[in-house]
Amino acid sequence: MTTPSSSSAAQPPICSTMMQMPLSLNHLLERAGTLFASNEIVSRLPDKSLVRHSYGAFYQRTRQLAQALQNLGLQKGERVATLCWNHHAHLECYFGIPAAGGVMHTLNLRLSPEEIAWIANDAQDKVLIIDDVLLPLYQQFAHLYHFEKVIVFPFSGAAVPAPFTDYEQLLASTDTQGFQYAPHAEDDAVSMCYTSGTTGRPKGVVYSHRSTILHTLVGCLGDFWGLKGSDVILPVTPMFHANSWGIPYGAVMMGVKLVFPGPHLHPEDLLDLMTAEPPTLSLGVPTIWMGLIQAFEAAQTTQPGRWKLPAGMRSLVGGAAVPEALIRAFDRHGIWILQGWGMTETSPLCTVSYPKSELKDAPMDERYRRAAMAGVPVPLTELRIRGEDGLDAPWDGQHVGEIQVRGPFITGSYHQVPVSEDKFSADGWLRTGDVASVDALGFVRITDRTKDLIKSGGEWISSVDLENALMAHLDVAEAAVIAIPDPKWSERPLACIVLKPGRAQGQAPRPEDFAAHLLQHGFAKWQVPDRYEFIDAVPRTSTGKFYKLKLRERFPA
Ligand code: ADP
Repeated sequence: MTTPSSSSAAQPPICSTMMQMPLSLNHLLERAGTLFASNEIVSRLPDKSLVRHSYGAFYQRTRQLAQALQNLGLQKGERVATLCWNHHAHLECYFGIPAAGGVMHTLNLRLSPEEIAWIANDAQDKVLIIDDVLLPLYQQFAHLYHFEKVIVFPFSGAAVPAPFTDYEQLLASTDTQGFQYAPHAEDDAVSMCYTSGTTGRPKGVVYSHRSTILHTLVGCLGDFWGLKGSDVILPVTPMFHANSWGIPYGAVMMGVKLVFPGPHLHPEDLLDLMTAEPPTLSLGVPTIWMGLIQAFEAAQTTQPGRWKLPAGMRSLVGGAAVPEALIRAFDRHGIWILQGWGMTETSPLCTVSYPKSELKDAPMDERYRRAAMAGVPVPLTELRIRGEDGLDAPWDGQHVGEIQVRGPFITGSYHQVPVSEDKFSADGWLRTGDVASVDALGFVRITDRTKDLIKSGGEWISSVDLENALMAHLDVAEAAVIAIPDPKWSERPLACIVLKPGRAQGQAPRPEDFAAHLLQHGFAKWQVPDRYEFIDAVPRTSTGKFYKLKLRERFPA
């Protein structure tokens, strides 16, 4: 406000009185050690037994790891790779490596030995921390890339073979008296993760203290993970897949009990674990939950009472489109699926389909329909839909275009890759390669990945919509739809169908049955596939998603 007396003398600009403290993962670690020492971290070992640690032990061991890495001469910003399943020692790496000043680089154990070596070389990893049960995999790429030090976590309990360093002995022999966190700024790197490379060479995304803390705070909000101290989290999402979607950081921040599944990810194993240690929140890709619900429902007749599904559990499912049929199936057991959309590049949480206040009185059908959408952008994320004309598409639920995003936990470049216009817009937004519309309530509906869209007679057909509808058919366990070349229409959809167990191919629905089903679901005649192939299983990517590239190779025409 200008008053006659103040207008004459210029005032110095007002400054914030807040302290200048960098956002830091070390704060979360200290907090867990101080406030949650008796809370539990449970891990499933290779022999399927459970081992229990306290957050107090986690705090002590993580600082020992950090001190040990400093003693080994790790320099600030140097990369320490992990090749591990989900367990307590991997969690120690999440905090111990950055505490030492290093950058944790999670290697994906489902990649080929050559790909792992390529990625380790691209990241110039110095040290490798690896589960003993994964040493056979290491032996296959050891000649392709040399780590200065290999530390082996004796996950199976067996003695660590020479010449490797035993993780447990290293920790036990390290004194943390006088331990100092490596000095850091909030933009310093803490972890890195490579995109899976389904769309070209894998590329490194590097996260900072700041981006990780902001992502964690947003994730913890009530409509997303909604973390409470009394929660029990089952992270099925691998810790090498976009940092297990960030949940390890949230769990440590709130001291939440964690139940790590170790290497046991088969539906039966997960059902055993959920029955023994019922979670209130779980995270994983749709294919995991599809297998789990089939196994559970089949056992209800053959072995009633063997397993209990934890009614009331929230389940964050993402990484690929979540079929409405899956959401309905879990809801019948009192489990609500929250769909999330994101990428390695986006930390990854970018949109979540939660029941917005406008939906409070909406009929259940409308709630299911919304839950099957990718959802609403989370705070700190800006999202736009760029049409083929290069303009922003209106949020009317009709116009489609590429999703572009920006924000403080969205990558602005890739590790050692020049910024190019096919990955980032001229004004600096991340081009996701996903095609979607957004409606008036802000719900994003993914139509496809750019490369998976089907263009028939000049019109786009969404493979995701067809898959969702086909997976609602009573006889269908899984469906993946791909484009095949067509001389007249340029491309036509081909549906690959996995029948539910017990449905023999002889009695399988005929193409005309599927067509009638799809027409009933509102598809136009020209959108309905002309061809259906029955397959035993849909091939999976290294992160458990449908691998359509493999189907395109198998059905080239
Ligand atoms: P990759 O790109 O190698 O699959 P990411 O895990 O980073 O590795 O995958 C990100 C991609 O996964 C997104 O660009 C999108 O295509 C897909 N995706 C993630 N979540 C969803 C979702 N809820 N619905 C549809 N697709 C999704």
